[in-house]
Amino acid sequence: MSDLTELGRWRGVASTAWLIVLLLWETAAPCFALFLGSRERWRHGLRNVVVGALNALLVVVGFVWAWKAVAAWATEHRFGLLNWLGLTGWPAAVLGVLLFDCWTYWWHRSAHELPRLWNFHRVHHSDARMDVTTANRFHLVEIGLSSLLRLAVIPLIGLQFGHVVLYETLLQGCVQLQHANVALPPAWEWTLRWLIVTPGLHKVHHSREPADTDSNYASLLSVWDRLFGSFRLRARPEEIRFGLDGMDTDGRQTVRGMIRTPFEK
Ligand SMILES: [Zn+2]
Repeated sequence: MSDLTELGRWRGVASTAWLIVLLLWETAAPCFALFLGSRERWRHGLRNVVVGALNALLVVVGFVWAWKAVAAWATEHRFGLLNWLGLTGWPAAVLGVLLFDCWTYWWHRSAHELPRLWNFHRVHHSDARMDVTTANRFHLVEIGLSSLLRLAVIPLIGLQFGHVVLYETLLQGCVQLQHANVALPPAWEWTLRWLIVTPGLHKVHHSREPADTDSNYASLLSVWDRLFGSFRLRARPEEIRFGLDGMDTDGRQTVRGMIRTPFEK
C-alpha cells in the first residue's frame, strides 16, 4: 500500500484544485442564490476555511502520525478484521473503505443523537449559506474526538495506513462536492446517489427542518442510509432552507463565535 501512502502527499493539492473547480462552478451556476455580494461571499468562505485550517493543523500535528503508528502495529501483529480474514491488496482496500465509511456513518449519526456531541456538531449545521467551504466547518473538539476514536477503529478493522489515505482522499472529494452550492444534472444526481452522497442528498441533511436534519447521515457511500433507515429525499429541494433556528446572528458565524458556541448556554 506504499503507492496509496504516496497519494497522501498529493491530497492537499487535489483538494485545493477540487475546491477551486467547485468555487468556479458555484459562481457560474449556483443552485441557490445565497449571497448578495462577492464581499459577503468572501467573508463567509474565509471564516469557514480558517476553521478548516485549524482543524487540519490539529489533525496533522496530533493524529496522522498516530494513525500511521496504530495501522503499522495492526499490520505487524496481523491484528484486526481484514488480517483475520486473510485479505490483502485491493480486496482488503475495498472492504477496508466500506467498513471505515460505516464507522463514519455511525459517528455522524451519534453526533446528531447524543446531545453532548450535537452541541459541537451544530456548529457545522449553523451555516445558513452552505457552500463548498462549509465542508471545512467543524468544531475543533468534534474533529479531535473523531480523530481520537480512529486510533481504536483503525486497528480493529485492521486498516493499513494506505487504506486510511485512500479513504480520506475519497471522503474529502465527496464531502466538498456534497456541500457545494451546485446541482448535478438530474440524471447524474439520480445515478450517482445509488453509490455516493450527492449534493441533492446532503442538502436535505442541512435543512432547517428537524425531520430532514435527522436523515442522510452518510458521508461517502449512500448505502448506509438505505440500510439503516435514514435515507430521505425532498419532493421540492428548492424549498430547503439551510441553517439552524437561533444560530443565525453574525456573532455565531465568526471564527471566534463558532469556537465559543458549544461552551455558551
Ligand atoms: Zn450532520
